[in-house]
Amino acid sequence: MLKVVFIGWRGMVGSVLMERMREQGDFAGFEPLFASTSQVGQPGPDIGMDMPPLADAFNVDALSGTDIIVTCQGSDYTKKVYPELRKKGWKGFWIDASSALRMADDSIIVLDPVNREVIDSALDRGIKNFTGGNCTVSLMLMAAGGLFKAGLVEWMTSMTYQAASGAGAKNMRELVAQMNAIGQLAQSLVSDPSSAILDIDRRVMEAMKSPDFPVDNFGFPLAGSLLPWIDSPMDNGQTREEWKGYAESNKILQTQQPIPIDGICVRIGAMRSHSQAITIKLSRDVSEDEIKDIIASSNKWVEVVANTKEDSLARLTPAAVSGSLSVPVGRIRKMNLGPRYLSLFTAGDQLLWGAAEPIRRMFKIALEYLQ
Ligand code: NAP
Repeated sequence: MLKVVFIGWRGMVGSVLMERMREQGDFAGFEPLFASTSQVGQPGPDIGMDMPPLADAFNVDALSGTDIIVTCQGSDYTKKVYPELRKKGWKGFWIDASSALRMADDSIIVLDPVNREVIDSALDRGIKNFTGGNCTVSLMLMAAGGLFKAGLVEWMTSMTYQAASGAGAKNMRELVAQMNAIGQLAQSLVSDPSSAILDIDRRVMEAMKSPDFPVDNFGFPLAGSLLPWIDSPMDNGQTREEWKGYAESNKILQTQQPIPIDGICVRIGAMRSHSQAITIKLSRDVSEDEIKDIIASSNKWVEVVANTKEDSLARLTPAAVSGSLSVPVGRIRKMNLGPRYLSLFTAGDQLLWGAAEPIRRMFKIALEYLQ
């Protein structure tokens, strides 16, 4: 029976992966093993069957006896363990949520509803490394991948509204702690209907500027504000997050001629769902109805939302989409700039399609391929 080891299963992405695999009855037809970098010998997750205690995720000898390694542990782990394993002659599948191997020539970025043919052709060529993409890129392509495939995108900008979860579990906690600190300081005034709004505003500013305001992880207030910088700087003035939009999208789609994609990535006070305002210069003038049909038929999770106030506010927000695999796309319209300029807005749960789901699906593809 095929042996599969899961590493990083108790982190944020890993626990969403475990939840989805349990829900979908995926723990069948192979021998699972769970490993940890810090909890060796302790019990693993409950998957409804007896399991040995946690193995050592750094034990390369033990790992080299497996057929598939699924890791949500992070780049540092991949950079340390992956080369040692391959040096030992390990020929198994490495399926990874981290960015460590994303841009490597012998690795494919997986998003099978968009690039299944790229994955299949890689399997035929003997490629064994498959990585999940950046969350914002994966969600953008789930929404607009159909337009790329139809050859309709001359260039694209994506202005993002990214959730705290993209920065990790500690940052999600910090956002709630910030909201709490503001709420506590302003509470007496908010609950008094006769209080003046400028007094409430002063309390909020006071909370945000207090030395006790929790900013250890974000460095600055996010609740009641936003942060127009995500990740490290690149030489050209972009952030690394913005660079990924171009580099990873073109790699996922394996474009012959790279399509220009750029924008500004902004952190906002949403918990786990990213949103993006997208502008596309179309390669030719196509009607809005045709565009909606192309988007709606590109995969079974994408949903075209009518460009009305009611539908946009009810269906096109982080609050509406969190915890769901749906990827709504709305505000679709030709812009005043001209008939080849298209505007749209999309939202999606960044822990599902942005992180765990492409990994879960690639694991199933690899399992099927090996069986
Ligand atoms: P994470 O929550 O920090 O978890 C990573 C590891 O930290 C865990 O597997 C666990 O490993 C260890 N850990 C230490 N203390 C923990 C605690 N109290 N609770 C749970 N785990 C703890 O990392 P992540 O956000 O899931 O990200 C994993 C990888 O996926 C990263 O490379 C990230 O860049 C990538 N990714 C993340 C997102 C996202 O939205 N967060 C999206 C796409 C890709 P041990 O059991 O070995 O100690």
